[in-house]
Amino acid sequence: MTKGNINVSVENIFPLIKKFLYSDHEIFLRELISNATDATLKLKHLTSIGEVKVEYGNPQLEVKVDKEQKTLRIIDQGIGMTAEEVEKYINQVAFSGAEEFLEKYKDTAKDSGIIGHFGLGFYSAFMVAEKVEILTKSYKDEPAVRWICDGSPEFTLEETTDKTDRGTEIILHIAEDSTEFLEESKIRELLLKYNKFMPVPIKFGTKTQTLPVPEDAPEGTVAETEEVDNIINNPTPAWTTAPSDLTDQDYLKFYHELYPMQFEEPLFHIHLNVDYPFNLTGILFFPKLSNNLNIDKDKIQLYQNQVYVTDEVKGIVPDFLMLLRGVIDSPDIPLNVSRSYLQADGAVKKISSYITKKVADKMSSLINENREDYEKKWNDIKIVIEYGIVSEEKFYEKADKFTLYPTVDGKYFLWNELTEKIKPSQTDKDGNLVILYATNADEQHSYIQSAKDKGYEVILLDSPIASHIIQKLETSKEKVSFARVDADHINNLIKKDEPVISKLNEADKESLKRNVEEAISDAKFTVQLEDMDSNDAPFTITQPEFMRRMKDMQATGGGGGMFGMGGFPEMYNLIVNSNSEFANQILKTENTEEKVSLIQHALDLAKLSQNLLKGKDLTDFIQRSYKQLEK
Ligand code: ADP
Repeated sequence: MTKGNINVSVENIFPLIKKFLYSDHEIFLRELISNATDATLKLKHLTSIGEVKVEYGNPQLEVKVDKEQKTLRIIDQGIGMTAEEVEKYINQVAFSGAEEFLEKYKDTAKDSGIIGHFGLGFYSAFMVAEKVEILTKSYKDEPAVRWICDGSPEFTLEETTDKTDRGTEIILHIAEDSTEFLEESKIRELLLKYNKFMPVPIKFGTKTQTLPVPEDAPEGTVAETEEVDNIINNPTPAWTTAPSDLTDQDYLKFYHELYPMQFEEPLFHIHLNVDYPFNLTGILFFPKLSNNLNIDKDKIQLYQNQVYVTDEVKGIVPDFLMLLRGVIDSPDIPLNVSRSYLQADGAVKKISSYITKKVADKMSSLINENREDYEKKWNDIKIVIEYGIVSEEKFYEKADKFTLYPTVDGKYFLWNELTEKIKPSQTDKDGNLVILYATNADEQHSYIQSAKDKGYEVILLDSPIASHIIQKLETSKEKVSFARVDADHINNLIKKDEPVISKLNEADKESLKRNVEEAISDAKFTVQLEDMDSNDAPFTITQPEFMRRMKDMQATGGGGGMFGMGGFPEMYNLIVNSNSEFANQILKTENTEEKVSLIQHALDLAKLSQNLLKGKDLTDFIQRSYKQLEK
């Protein structure tokens, strides 16, 4: 037997491991299973290049809990270790066996999927165990050995006949403060969290399987059952398969495997696959985003060679794609590092822009393949695209190819189509295109109607970040301005071919204006007379586009909070159609009281159509209206 001291540079590394190294004690299991998987894949690699003449077979890992013995065991059928290797790999902490292995087989190992580093690896066992045993037998013809260490730098190492088959068994004697790891349910939960897609099958207990009843069996025969290994993982998840070998069904199946509690189907998927200048595979899913966003659930998961790392992918995935689901697997993303480091890391930045580009490309191909279907999905995907447009320049540069502008009538235009369409009718006197939009088709119904009557297209921009999108488009596109259908200047905005002829003379106009101003006496309203079509509404309330936008921006956090919340004064224009029959009626009415009531009633109607009549004013209006009906 050998006794010795583990060569560690810090006086006593174990308390350190326990206290500081890992905030999550549970990851010890991931580390040990990664080691067991490595050992198995190394053997596979060695047999495949003919270096080792042993049968690789169908090795699997096994995890066993023994509550009575207070042990947790991780057993593999991999390459195992000789006494010398235990000395070297286990006792010399800083020494990385995997690194040496990779160095030696650098050129042939690339494709064998050997798992990289997760930090201290094996020694994380001491976070939960008071004593750790390694029972191991190398694939080389050498005796098995047993290594024992109780968490101090002292260890024992001796030959043993207790193990006859190839592989390694790690036996953790679970410490008093970690007995939760003796619960089968806890271990199952951890295996499903970290190891669900590990490349080597992992057995955890057995399960009962019902055998098919033979066809010639007499009626009423009860099906027989048998105990079979319970394999907890899927060693070949969809993202490790070439896209050409996968059907849409396969992707769906994988989606449900990844998110067992998610019943809604995704809209489409994006298969990621790069090997230069970094390695990355994965599948992203676009979920339906229209209803009930739960951003904290079912997030994108980050893997490293099929080992789960985290679902905190901020920095790696651009912000606007955080609502997507799926898997990213890359050995090139540094683990166990702070977020600020991640954001500054060059490889990570490249990954983020690769993902952005892939998503943009996917959108372009979807719209080209099936425009109708894409239009149907638009409502569910627009949040992501709109957010991408305002937050990611690289995405915005490509976005004209796949960003749709729906009209209030349910037509969908790409940017170029829209501008072509409206160019003849919606250009102002300076040659700028005026894009009319509504943010709420119901609330702005009367304005939409009158814009449509004039032959204008009205697009629907009902997203919470509409004002930001507009700003983005106005600043990046040339000679384009946006105006909401109820904006102040619509009527003056777009040059009319034939000016409407005025029915009133100047004197009448002046007294009409004065009548209205006196009757409403409200500083919020600026009265303007306009010669419109006689069928246009007599009174229309509009809001200065600029003022309203600043308010919108402020509400969605874009205005910089310049004037504080609600710091903008409420300002409206009351447009009086001097050609309307109603204008005549006001002028004709002699009785002042009647005149005032007439004007106030009309103002209320105008407010009503703009959703501005509320509270007491609304109640008064209704009462007054009933009275009038009684007359
Ligand atoms: P890393 O895996 O990052 O190299 P570890 O501390 O986890 O660091 O493991 C150190 C070394 O011990 C491994 O590189 C490997 O050579 C050896 N080792 C650990 N577990 C096993 C195992 N189950 N089978 C064979 N070798 C193992």
